[in-house]
Amino acid sequence: MHNWEPVIGLEIHAQLNTRSKLFSPAPNRFGDEPNTNISAVCTGQPGALPLLNREAVKKAIQFGLAIHGKISLASSFSRKSYFYPDTPRNFQITQYEDPIVRSGSVTLDIEGNTRSFPIKEVHLEDDAGMLKHFTHFAGVDYNRAGAPLIEIVTEPCFRNSKEAAAFAMEVRSILLYLDACDGNMEEGSLRFDANVSVRRVGETVLRPRAEIKNLNSFSFLEMALAGEIERQIALYTKEPNRPWLELIPPGTYRWDSSLQKTILMRAKESADDYRYFPEPDLPPIFLSVEMIDRLRDELPELPRERFRRYISDFSLSEHSAFVLTREKKLADYFEAANRICQSPKNLCNWMIVEFSGRLKESGKSLVETAISPEQMASLVRMIDSGKLTGPMAKQVADKMVLSPGKSPEEIVQGNPDFQPLDNAQEIEALIDRVMQANPQSVLDFQAGKERAFGFLVGQVMKLSQGKASPSLVNDLLRQKLSSK
Ligand code: ADP
Ligand code: MG
Repeated sequence: MHNWEPVIGLEIHAQLNTRSKLFSPAPNRFGDEPNTNISAVCTGQPGALPLLNREAVKKAIQFGLAIHGKISLASSFSRKSYFYPDTPRNFQITQYEDPIVRSGSVTLDIEGNTRSFPIKEVHLEDDAGMLKHFTHFAGVDYNRAGAPLIEIVTEPCFRNSKEAAAFAMEVRSILLYLDACDGNMEEGSLRFDANVSVRRVGETVLRPRAEIKNLNSFSFLEMALAGEIERQIALYTKEPNRPWLELIPPGTYRWDSSLQKTILMRAKESADDYRYFPEPDLPPIFLSVEMIDRLRDELPELPRERFRRYISDFSLSEHSAFVLTREKKLADYFEAANRICQSPKNLCNWMIVEFSGRLKESGKSLVETAISPEQMASLVRMIDSGKLTGPMAKQVADKMVLSPGKSPEEIVQGNPDFQPLDNAQEIEALIDRVMQANPQSVLDFQAGKERAFGFLVGQVMKLSQGKASPSLVNDLLRQKLSSK
């Protein structure tokens, strides 16, 4: 394995979240009754003419600017011919010779190293419909036919599956920050094709590649890449003298997650097979420098910038900053709550550790629950001000998850379980009981074992059912022990 170097290039299809489709006014919406969001254009009726969606062009340019790509002042569409029932026109309208964005790169931090991955191009194209298989028949749903896509094509720049997956995650985040795509991978809004080859370390040529189509999760992407890399190395090792093209016939593969294997679906079509030619029904897209400059000026803060800012302004760890900034909605939630409680580290911990743990089973993200940033901020404030001890706050958090919409104040109000014990006399009584029950620990402490102190604090907290104010317990216990 260590004599071999994997070479990976990604093609990412991202569905743009415009209101209407790329070339027709039909709604661009997922989840409706089949064949309701369609028009003469999406269903390829003879004579129907495409009309380009300005919003889709704008989102493609914004993405191009976000990756520091070169925006083409003139770009054009081509027909890519193929027959399949999901494409009633028998061709896809895509950009072939003049894509809207050329070059660019995405920079990210991987295991402590900053790396920049070059992008070859980004082009606009329309999506196909979807085949649906039932027990005795198959149908086709054209609701997705004509939905706007950008295809992001990287150079063969990744050297392992982790890099490729990290890149894909960053692209998803950028799209979310631009509000260009909903990023919903289960619904297919973001799909990855992975091109994989391997070569001997030091070799400069590229060997034949397998193209694994339609991976729709980061873990499938990573697994498929790792599996395919291993498969190719094994083939080359077993038959070192066989022609490469026989060992790895270029073509379209799919990842079978139950077999944990890539499977060849069809040998590679060449560009000739698609018979690309300029789309006669659409004029080229001409852009003005002013428009591009304006869009550049209006670019929002992007995930990596926000990630950096959270580390420098809030002193969050890289890991915390990363988790918070992956999804813009979560980061916005954090900022809204932090404006109120001004306690970034504690707030971050409650959001990404305590609450995400409690929500894991439901599969929901915090932003999808009825727990508002204001309520989150209240909880953190109550902890910071000593109104709730840690253990009590955890119980309040349980209840916030179980009865979403209820504020922590409402949960705490009138409930004796949530009144912290901050009466010195009562706490002293508990301390006395703990010291009597644990004479050895008292002796240990007096002999200089600091650990015994922590143990005794823990016992007092336990006896108070988590309600005693930890700082008061600390102070009083130290007083008692040293006066003994
Ligand atoms: P095509 O014209 O067949 O679509 P492209 O040149 O557009 O091919 O490349 C498609 C993707 O495959 C790109 O992401 C590119 O980086 C990647 N790629 C090309 N050749 C190789 C190779 N030998 N090994 C791995 N990836 C490759
Ligand atoms: Mg290509």
